[in-house]
Amino acid sequence: MRDADAAAAGVRGGLTKQMTVGRGSHAPSAQHKDVVFQSVDVTVSYGGVPAVRDVSFDIYKNNITALIGPSGCGKSTLIRCFNRMNDLIPSASVDGQILYHGEDLYGPKVDPVQARKLIGMVFQKPNPFPKSIFDNIAFGPRLMGMENVDDRVKQALERAALWDEVKDRLETNAFGMSGGQQQRLCIARCLAVDPDVILMDEPCSALDPISTGKIEDLMLELKEDYSIVIVTHNMQQAARVSDMTAFLIVELDATEKNRTGRIVEYDDTEKIFTNPADSRTEDYVSGKVG
Ligand code: ADP
Repeated sequence: MRDADAAAAGVRGGLTKQMTVGRGSHAPSAQHKDVVFQSVDVTVSYGGVPAVRDVSFDIYKNNITALIGPSGCGKSTLIRCFNRMNDLIPSASVDGQILYHGEDLYGPKVDPVQARKLIGMVFQKPNPFPKSIFDNIAFGPRLMGMENVDDRVKQALERAALWDEVKDRLETNAFGMSGGQQQRLCIARCLAVDPDVILMDEPCSALDPISTGKIEDLMLELKEDYSIVIVTHNMQQAARVSDMTAFLIVELDATEKNRTGRIVEYDDTEKIFTNPADSRTEDYVSGKVG
């Protein structure tokens, strides 16, 4: 059992592993493996007003899962549920249930800080610390009292396809790196604490096409060992890299005062982009509506 699996077992607190696929959820057609997250009737509200509601779908291990949809439909709000980042927003509340390897992610046994180590996050804008490249990566392992920090730093940089570019300047400030390198550094920072899942909220929106291509190649390599969830505005990116895609829209709620996001369709990416079940998905992916 690798470290992440062992740690995940720790977060799970010894409860029986429930590996249900599609129970009470959107049930895609493909043969899938283990479920990492099962989202059951999840509604996230700010100040009591739902921003995204009734979300039920499963996220699979070693898949790249894309969340797409127009601005404001709740993609970032939803992805933040998967590592309890919404806990850090005082007005936010999460109803429903998110099971992580069968365990309630919001249950009393789960330490949110530990959960965020296992379920790392990369943001739209690269956010290196104002420290050296080495110290950026070493930060998490040191904080957690992990051993062999030098090896961890090297391995994380190698896994993030950055080692060859930075090995001779590990002690220089991370702010001296290009935007694409900084984003790979942030991915390496997640990897250094041996995560299970990497959440990416529009990781390429601030990058040029070449840097974007590198991150996409990296995602395809990383999914062999990790499960990845990505929010992207770039439909070509979702089509290129993801295995599963959830398409969300914004609807007026029953009071017709509030706009709330919902999942319209969740399925294999190929199906979403070539033969979606819902005409709203087709209109969006074909560019008829934005
Ligand atoms: P998307 O990522 O699809 O653009 P968001 O999740 O950012 O959508 O936003 C969904 C809705 O939630 C929007 O109406 C947005 O204004 C609202 N929202 C997002 N973050 C916050 C926040 N921190 N406080 C209050 N409202 C928020």
